[in-house]
Amino acid sequence: EAKTAGKRQWRRYRPALQEGMAERHELQESLDQAPIETSFTVLYQPIVDLASGAAAGFEALVRWPHATRGVVLPEEFISLAEESGRIIPLGAWVLSEAVTETIRMQTLVQADTWATDRHSPYMSVNVSPRQFRDEGFVDRVRQVLDASQLPPSSLVLELTESVLMRHDDRVLADMRAITDLGVRIAIDDFGTGYSSLSYLRDFPISLLKIDKSFIDELGRSPQQYALVEGIVHLADTLGVKVIAEGIENQNQLELLLSMGCPLGQGFLFARPLAADRAESFVLAPNADHLGNWSRSASQ
Ligand code: C2E
Ligand code: MG
Ligand code: MG
Ligand code: MG
Repeated sequence: EAKTAGKRQWRRYRPALQEGMAERHELQESLDQAPIETSFTVLYQPIVDLASGAAAGFEALVRWPHATRGVVLPEEFISLAEESGRIIPLGAWVLSEAVTETIRMQTLVQADTWATDRHSPYMSVNVSPRQFRDEGFVDRVRQVLDASQLPPSSLVLELTESVLMRHDDRVLADMRAITDLGVRIAIDDFGTGYSSLSYLRDFPISLLKIDKSFIDELGRSPQQYALVEGIVHLADTLGVKVIAEGIENQNQLELLLSMGCPLGQGFLFARPLAADRAESFVLAPNADHLGNWSRSASQ
């Protein structure tokens, strides 16, 4: 099924359930042959300071606009790229694109004389388990930073719980090497794996992203609210900043504000945006691309 999505007439690729091995194999081949720089694109979703509405940062999200399939979403190809190892050069490219874009955004903020109260946005980049385990990963991060002059504290790397579950010394050593560079680490999709709050104690983690499934359930029961509130407060006690993922409505925003959740991301504020629109968001988070979200309602 291919359907029209958005102004750019990109069709979204959705494999039917009965599509099997052959289809996967074909997509895999196409993925492995696609020249990275010209085949993929990176979108940037704002991570919003919930109290002020400003863009605290962005998450880089890769897309694959495919000649015959339409836009292939990461859910369809990241696992394939993991299997073949293609994720290593692809992930390295996303990282360097995202760093270049961060420099551009920070330059815009510095040049904007009206933006006296605005901080330079940070950039958050997803790192898949295989990419993180690759021998050259830490060096690559170091090289990208050296080549760009980006302040290391402006870069966040998102790891999932599956990386932390393999509780070996290499994982911890590599995480320390990354934080020694000044780069921060976030746990992504918190709550979906075998979540253990001990991760927050045992690993050098600066940010925690509460999975969308918890935000979806937020208004449904006092227990759900208490669960998220508990995570927010505990994280705060441990000096870990919380980001709520997948905020889609005003009610969720208000509940999160009431429990003191500092940061959030979701379609209520903005979808993943092309670089130029992300740059506009940095300078004018209240512009009309915010849809029905109004800043006053969050104050
Ligand atoms: P993620 O890291 O948890 O990223 C958040 C996903 O939630 C994104 O999907 C984003 O578009 C979506 N999202 C954000 N707000 C909302 C909302 O309010 N409602 C809904 N329904 N969705 C929302 P996306 O871009 O399709 O990416 C899916 C996953 O693919 C990501 O989940 C991440 O695990 C992976 N991914 C994306 N880009 C990369 C990449 O460059 N490298 C690696 N290794 N993985 C990536
Ligand atoms: Mg992520
Ligand atoms: Mg996530
Ligand atoms: Mg997720």
